[in-house]
Amino acid sequence: MRANCWTGRNSVEVRTVPDPKILNSRDAIVRISSTAICGSDLHLYDGYIPTMRRGDILGHEFMGEVVELGHDVYNLQVGDRVVVPFPIACGACNACNRQQFSVCENSNPNAGLAEAMFGQPTAGIYGYSHLTGGFAGGQAQYARVPFADVGPLKIESDVPDERVLFLSDILPTGYMGAEMCDISPGDVVAVWGAGSVGQFAIASALLLGAEKVIAIDRFNYRLRMASERAGAAHTLNYEHEDIHQALLELTGGRGPDACIDAVGMEAHHGTGLIHAYDRIKQATRAETERPHALRQAIRSCRSGGVVSVIGVYGGLMDKFPIGTVMNRGLSIRSGQCHVQRYLRPLMARIEAGEIDPSFVITHRLPLDEAPAGYETFKHKRDDCVKVVLSP
Ligand code: NAD
Ligand code: ZN
Ligand code: ZN
Repeated sequence: MRANCWTGRNSVEVRTVPDPKILNSRDAIVRISSTAICGSDLHLYDGYIPTMRRGDILGHEFMGEVVELGHDVYNLQVGDRVVVPFPIACGACNACNRQQFSVCENSNPNAGLAEAMFGQPTAGIYGYSHLTGGFAGGQAQYARVPFADVGPLKIESDVPDERVLFLSDILPTGYMGAEMCDISPGDVVAVWGAGSVGQFAIASALLLGAEKVIAIDRFNYRLRMASERAGAAHTLNYEHEDIHQALLELTGGRGPDACIDAVGMEAHHGTGLIHAYDRIKQATRAETERPHALRQAIRSCRSGGVVSVIGVYGGLMDKFPIGTVMNRGLSIRSGQCHVQRYLRPLMARIEAGEIDPSFVITHRLPLDEAPAGYETFKHKRDDCVKVVLSP
C-alpha cells in the first residue's frame, strides 16, 4: 500500500510499504477513505517530538471501511463505515473506566518510554512517535486498528466523510477544550490559536453557553474564519496589538473567565528577551517548549478562572509562571483528547445540523501529494487551515 512516512526533520515521503495485518483478535483493518494532517503532525515534522524513526507512517485522523476483523470484534462487520479516534484505548482499565481514554493503561506497548518521560504511561496513538507506541498511522491506504471493539464509531447514515472525519480528533479536542472551561452563562472565553482546533474550541464554547469568544492569532485569514464561521465576537492579531491589554479592555479590566491554549509547543512571535531565550533553548533541545501563548493565557486569565490547555506540549518548560497560577487561584486543565467519550454526542450534533465541521477544510489533495500538503500547512501558505488527503 501507499503511506506517508516521516523521513526526518521537515521531510515526509509517500512510499510503498507492506499492508497491515491483523495481529490481535480485537484488531480491525480499515481501508482509509479520508485522512487529515493535524497541527500535532507539524510537531513531528518540525522534529520536536522525540522517538520518531525514519520510515514511521504518520497520521492519526482517519476514517474508512472495515475490510478485515479479528475474531473477538463483535460490534463491527466487514463493510462498516467507521471513524477512528486517535487515542488507542482498551475500554477496560482504570483510566478507560473513568472515560479518560487518552491515558489508557493498556494500549501503549512502549509504556516504559512514556513512564520515563512523564512519570506514568500514556495511551497509544496512531502515527505519533514511539513514545506513544510506534503504531503505524492513517495517512495511508490501510491501517490496523487495535481494540476495534472500543474505539471506532460506526457511521450509520450517508453523511459525507468531510462532516464526520474530524470526529477522529480535532472536533472533540476543541469541544473538550471548551468543556474544561466550566462555562457559565455570561462567560467570556479567549482562544489562542485560530487553527482548526481553535476554530472548534470557539464554536464549542459558544455551544456550551459562552457569551462571547475572543480569538487570537496572527493570520488574518484564520481570524476571519474564526469570526465568520466559528462565531468569535472579537478577533485580536497579536502582531498588531498588546494582547494582555486588549483582553483587559474587552472584559472590564478583569480578564477572560477562561483561556484556551490551542497553540501548543511551537508558538510564534513572543516579544523580547524571554522569546529569544525560549527559541534558543528549544533549538538546542535544552527545553522542549516555546510556551509564549500559554504564558500569555495564564497572565491574561481572570483571577479564579480556568486555563484550558489543548495545544500539545512535549516535555519541559522554563519560566513557568506558577506564582501567577497560585496567587490568582487559576485552574489549569489539560489533556490529549479523550475522543471516545465525545464520539456519539458530537455525531448527534452533526446529524442534527448543529455543527458542520467541514468549514475548516481549505485543501483537498490525493495522498501522494502529502509532502506538498505538509509544506503548505506548515507555512500557512495559500490561506491553508486544514488539509484532507484521499488515499
Ligand atoms: P495549526 O498549526 O493549524 O494552528 C496553530 C495556530 O496557532 C496557528 O494559526 C498559529 O498562527 C497560532 N499561533 C502561534 N503562535 C501563537 C501565539 N503566540 N498566540 C496566538 N496564536 C498563535 O494547528 P492545529 O491543528 O489547530 O492544532 C493546534 C494545537 O492543538 C497543536 O499544538 C496541536 O498539536 C494540538 N492538538 C491537540 C490535541 C489534543 O488532543 N489535545 C489534538 C489535536 C491537536
Ligand atoms: Zn490531530
Ligand atoms: Zn484502557
